Amino acid sequence: MAKTFKCSDIGLQCSFTARADNEDALMAQVKTHAAQAHNMAAIDEATMAKMRAAIKDEA
Ligand SMILES: [Zn+2]
Repeated sequence: MAKTFKCSDIGLQCSFTARADNEDALMAQVKTHAAQAHNMAAIDEATMAKMRAAIKDEA
């Protein structure tokens, strides 16, 4: 089942949505986006936990 992540789900004013076949691939996309769009070169543990919690199984 595919996984999805939306920046807006963690409170960012951003329309980015990531979609991948598994969580590892999804997080890789999210990290790349966060570095480029949000100047988050390093993601701290609290933010990472928020991101993981916001991952959804695609309906
Ligand atoms: Zn974003």
